[in-house]
Amino acid sequence: MSEGKRTARRQPGGGARGEGIVDPSSQHCSTLRTESQAAVSNLDYALSLRRRGWYPIPLCWPQEGMCACPKQHKNPQEVGKAPLLGPGYQSLRPTEDDIRKWWGQWPQANVGVLLGASGVLSIDPDSPQALQEVQALGLPPTIRRVSHHDSFLYRRPEICPITQANHRGSGQLDVKTVGYVVVRGWHQTGCPVMIDADGPQELAAAPQWAVDMLRDVAAKKGKQVVLPEALPTPPDLNSLRVPMQVREMIRTGKGGTFPSRSERHFAVLRELCSAGYDDGVIAAVVLAHPVGAKARERDRAWLGAEIERARASLVDRPLLPEALPPGKEGTPDEAEGKTAAPTKDKTEVLIEGAEERPALGVAYTQQAQASDWRDMAKILGPVEFDWDRWLARGFLHILAGESGRGKSCLNLRIAACYVMGWPWPDGSSFTREKGKVLWCESEGAQALNLERAGKWGVTLEGLLCPLEDPLASVNLDNPQHRSAIVAAGKLPDVRLVIVDSLSAACTRRDENSTQMLQVVTWLATLARDTRKPVLVTHHLRKRSLFDSDSPSLDRLRGSSSITQTARMVWAIDSPDTARPDHLRLGVIKSNLARFPSPIGVTISESGLTFDEAPQKPREKTETEKAREFLLMELSGGPIKKTVLDTKATQAEVSVRALKRVKEELGIRSHKSGGEWWWALPILDNEHIP
Ligand SMILES: [Zn+2]
Repeated sequence: MSEGKRTARRQPGGGARGEGIVDPSSQHCSTLRTESQAAVSNLDYALSLRRRGWYPIPLCWPQEGMCACPKQHKNPQEVGKAPLLGPGYQSLRPTEDDIRKWWGQWPQANVGVLLGASGVLSIDPDSPQALQEVQALGLPPTIRRVSHHDSFLYRRPEICPITQANHRGSGQLDVKTVGYVVVRGWHQTGCPVMIDADGPQELAAAPQWAVDMLRDVAAKKGKQVVLPEALPTPPDLNSLRVPMQVREMIRTGKGGTFPSRSERHFAVLRELCSAGYDDGVIAAVVLAHPVGAKARERDRAWLGAEIERARASLVDRPLLPEALPPGKEGTPDEAEGKTAAPTKDKTEVLIEGAEERPALGVAYTQQAQASDWRDMAKILGPVEFDWDRWLARGFLHILAGESGRGKSCLNLRIAACYVMGWPWPDGSSFTREKGKVLWCESEGAQALNLERAGKWGVTLEGLLCPLEDPLASVNLDNPQHRSAIVAAGKLPDVRLVIVDSLSAACTRRDENSTQMLQVVTWLATLARDTRKPVLVTHHLRKRSLFDSDSPSLDRLRGSSSITQTARMVWAIDSPDTARPDHLRLGVIKSNLARFPSPIGVTISESGLTFDEAPQKPREKTETEKAREFLLMELSGGPIKKTVLDTKATQAEVSVRALKRVKEELGIRSHKSGGEWWWALPILDNEHIP
């Protein structure tokens, strides 16, 4: 090995490099310039990537064309490319601390960027011919990754699926939004790998042809929707169960802040899917109105694929990192022959470092595309309450209370409003369309619930179980259970989703565990995407000495993040110690409306009755305490005033209050044997010594 080559293989972060660093054996490196940021360490470089919103991961690094990393890669396709992290690295959202840890451990590690998480679309023409092809298709100026072959990095539009199209064109073009791209370090051939410092430093929007390529892949992967030959007559626009703004978009083909008409079209499809219409009706609606201009240009198959994609996006869109369906972000990069990335044990990796993250929401929105929430907010109308100020469509509600406080009974009573049309607990009428309730039982109380429903006369077919086995307990950590809940929750006649209870539905009972928070976030997303209320019970821990008597968010402090995620928190308690069975149901957190008045609840065999909410008994006044004290103490006969005062002090009754009450009660005082005695007026004087 020549001295020159040795120099060439010194790592970019390993010290200054001179001119002529290009490996002469590699003709493909001829376009490279001296790397301007040679003095910047890989660690600092990775940190700078993170600060611009990208997610870097450490990769194998080569030396003399061989793997120099601890994994001792033998496959040349892995050298300089394979990830150093274990399974599940695709799900990571590295923090700066993670980055410091990794490059502290492996300072020479090549730097990769996770495409999916970073929102990057990469176009990789792997030959001069492929490069010519993409140039012909259109390659807007953008960030260029220079290496053995150049890559062009673009901003992934929201409408673009997270997938990859390999071997396109004449066979050597890859377009992908999944996996990762090496952005800094050394190629196995000896070529430096870096971002072109002289070119644009901001991502340009991805060219449409590349997005279309990925959408075609996604459409083929997805279930093919075959639209009926004869579409039904579209329902009257004004009767569509979608927000007014969406109706306007359908009517005019305009509205919202969508970068293109196909994105608006897609948003409308999502709304229609979410409202529970079938494929035929959805196709009929869009084709009959201006919003369907693009659909009319394309064929039925395209529209069918778009509807399916919209439907899938309501559930399969990576809601949470670990909820990724296999074959999406976890796909190995076939084209580059990178190691297949096993998809197991993602949870383990997810938890690592999770505590340091500012908020779960960060990881979540990265995955689920925060812009979606903004767009949804733009097209969503005002909050729609099924039960005014208590139960809102599209939001997660938590019902908190100590064990044994009747949370499940209350759930069933709320369910009965939807199933039977019973009035709400505050007496207001149920004005919505009746329907079914999806009941996700995790406490194994099926038999008890069934008995209760029978006694109350609630129609049993109105209560659905998400799993095939109605006696199975729901586990929200189980992806299959989650999918089943989403599928059942999307059924058009399902009006409400109940989870009883949250902690039993999670494998990890630790309330502040990352998994628990992910589950709660997932539930909030379920509510949003099905646009139905989700009501979840959560056990309040037992009252401690430090708690106030009323349930408050403070009582949930062990699980503050859980209640932060819910827009509405109800609590049930029994404030009146004299009547512990008289419960109080109230809202203790609401981001959606003014707090409603609490409601009194009494549970009996035959059902629930509602009345005025009980209150914590008022503190006794000084006078009341003094009155009770005197009546009690003097009931046995006259007592020396000095003894009475001592006892009063012990009983925390004020001596001054005794004097006030003395007159009111007509208590008489006598002096006898040099001492004052007090006695009740009914007492006979003869008894006084
Ligand atoms: Zn290696």
